[in-house]
Amino acid sequence: MKIIRYLDESENAQFGWVHEDRAGLIEGSPFQAFRRAAAEFPLSDLHLLPPVAPSKIICVGRNYAAHAQEHEAEIPDLPLLFLKPPSSLIGTGETILLPPQSQRVEHEAELAVVIGKRSRWLDTEGAKDAVLGYTIANDVTARDLQRRDGQWTRGKGFDTFCPLGPWIETELDPADAVITCMVNGELRQMGSTRDMVFPVRQLVAYASSVMTLEPGDVLLTGTPAGVGLLNDGDELVTSIEGIGELRNPVRAEQPH
Ligand code: ZN
Repeated sequence: MKIIRYLDESENAQFGWVHEDRAGLIEGSPFQAFRRAAAEFPLSDLHLLPPVAPSKIICVGRNYAAHAQEHEAEIPDLPLLFLKPPSSLIGTGETILLPPQSQRVEHEAELAVVIGKRSRWLDTEGAKDAVLGYTIANDVTARDLQRRDGQWTRGKGFDTFCPLGPWIETELDPADAVITCMVNGELRQMGSTRDMVFPVRQLVAYASSVMTLEPGDVLLTGTPAGVGLLNDGDELVTSIEGIGELRNPVRAEQPH
């Protein structure tokens, strides 16, 4: 099933589900008991939001060997965790703003895991059961600020630096899904989740040994090689086979 979040006529966020090019309301919560109303409105008419409102966005650095090599970084012997703030989230179609503080903002196409239930100290089998589904993310990064600061909060944390969507796919097998990133129609990144240093279940279990995972929390699983520059006017398309496409225009933010 594909789960969306959208704004209804009264501008309230609602969960919905998608069948082909139509969508219907989810009555109740996709994290608990729910009922699917008929898919009766055109998907193209909806203003889609990021498909969840997480309490935290957990990210993993250097989880593909080829990406670690392009930055001449070691492959970590344990997952390298960091956080992005929920204020960095935008949905499909929304604009990534290049902040005036950075001269080098880069794209990082990533598979995102959506947590389905409150969890701590999961083993890898429990990690499988704790996942609701998968969506697409781009871990947009101000590379120059990330390097200058030494820790990553500023470089990874600007508003609009976490495009997420367009929906949660509950049926995906995360073992071998192809991730691609296109800028203005040109292929920049292509990799498979099979090349992750730490696979999804291991990442979820590891994160749950540090912090309580809440329903709707999101875990970004790292980016394959080929990260590169974003410029004012670019059109970014991040895709994962079996999920769909996340589309975001890129514009320079005017200094305030
Ligand atoms: Zn990343």
